Amino acid sequence: MKKIVLLYPLLYVLTLCINLQELKANQSDSLLFVVRIDDILSRNMSILPRSILPLQDTLASRGAKATCGLMPHRLIETANADGQLAKEIILSHNKGHEISQHGLIHICQICGRSNHEMYCSYNKRALSYEQQEQLISKGVQIMEDSLGIKPTSFIPPGHVYDATTKTVLADLGFPVISTAGTMGRSGDSLFDVPINSEYTWALTRQNYSANLTNAIQEIKQVQHITGIYVLMMHDPFIRLGYENGITLEWMGALLDSLNTYYGSRIHYKTLTEAAKIFDSELSTNNTKETSNAGTQPTGISLLPNYPNPFNPTTKIGFYLP
Ligand SMILES: [Zn+2]
Ligand SMILES: [Zn+2]
Repeated sequence: MKKIVLLYPLLYVLTLCINLQELKANQSDSLLFVVRIDDILSRNMSILPRSILPLQDTLASRGAKATCGLMPHRLIETANADGQLAKEIILSHNKGHEISQHGLIHICQICGRSNHEMYCSYNKRALSYEQQEQLISKGVQIMEDSLGIKPTSFIPPGHVYDATTKTVLADLGFPVISTAGTMGRSGDSLFDVPINSEYTWALTRQNYSANLTNAIQEIKQVQHITGIYVLMMHDPFIRLGYENGITLEWMGALLDSLNTYYGSRIHYKTLTEAAKIFDSELSTNNTKETSNAGTQPTGISLLPNYPNPFNPTTKIGFYLP
């Protein structure tokens, strides 16, 4: 047992060395890195949700920040009546992590399914402006009442939303949305900071090294194109990998290797901080490079994954410019 435990760190240190050599060969610019953690706290599995603090500490000890996608309704459910969730969220917020609003309850009021909320993708039926406004503003109110926090970013449950969702968010004063779409301004006032990939959802000792290698490789590639990478962690607190420590170990190893390679060129930000940085950068670039408009690739378009939530696989379509 002990031998196996010792062998794995050795193996991935070796893998990391190879990856880092490769990374150093052609990397030049900086990386803005966001960790988006969705579904705090789901209760649909056999494992009870665990504290968010160990993950937050793993990130913070490497200089990284968490953006937690919270379903506000969790705060007023009896399962969280002990106030522990609210306490952890407030602590998190006070340490500079972001608490993002993830719908209200993550359940569709038309079909009752739990993988969408703002638009019924099952019946292809839109919720009215009034219905969506009610859901989102109730979530804001719960967060303000229970946490004293007014969210500045919104993550649509299941990445399912429509134009009405964006209008409602803009009307409620949200500056940022995070989807599976394209980075940039959508409409006049919302800035979209979309996710990249998820590597920790079904993490095991068997796929640990491969996932780490793939993640580093993808981060490197995306960094060259966009300068920003948004790592998604889907529902980690009710996963076996969180329970047995693999997820924390993996996140630590990923961040250590990124820090070793990028050094001062990696900047850890929350969703809202990243939006602010890229929004001003984009507007500067627009005036500077008007002549190049239309000829330069502006980013990767990710399409919403399906199904979401997924078990055990999901498909994410994408366009490359
Ligand atoms: Zn539905
Ligand atoms: Zn979700």
